[in-house]
Amino acid sequence: MPDPFRTVVQRCGLCEVEGDQLELLAGVPMCAVCRTGEVDDALARHALSCTVKELHPTRATLWRTVEVVRPTILDLAVKCGPDTPRGWLRRRLGQGDPEVGDPGFDDRVKVEPADDSFTELALRVLRSPGVPQAVLAVIDCGGSVELVGRTVWVRAERSGDFGHIPELATLKLLAVALAIAVERFAREPSR
Ligand SMILES: [Zn+2]
Repeated sequence: MPDPFRTVVQRCGLCEVEGDQLELLAGVPMCAVCRTGEVDDALARHALSCTVKELHPTRATLWRTVEVVRPTILDLAVKCGPDTPRGWLRRRLGQGDPEVGDPGFDDRVKVEPADDSFTELALRVLRSPGVPQAVLAVIDCGGSVELVGRTVWVRAERSGDFGHIPELATLKLLAVALAIAVERFAREPSR
């Protein structure tokens, strides 16, 4: 009798290798190689380029940024960051930022299109398969997301020597998973 609690996943969501050692991250099954941050195969397979930067703008501040460039352009400019009590209140008063329509997402993520002309497409991208999970995973580990044209940025900042900042390898995996999901949306003929 099959074990109903066993998750059967067949292929790594990044590099697409088949395997039974896959574990879920941000809802994406990932192989042991990709989980270490070695995602060159995944980048090649999806025609993505990835740049990782770590900066110390001041002695006590650390910035980590992952930039992933996808092949297919979208006329899009939107930031997604952690929600604030003020943002939450503004939305309750009907003056706030656009909402995806899923409370599990909207209560935790502030969606800021660069201007109103990007709102409709931004919401469609943020509702498409795999995208909300990856965005939420970035926000939950302390980062933020920006989607502009062909580029996906995932950023995190630490202020002070003991503040929390997600590992660069984690940010990179989440950025690549997000870029793959956004690229899938961009290539959808019916979008
Ligand atoms: Zn993999």
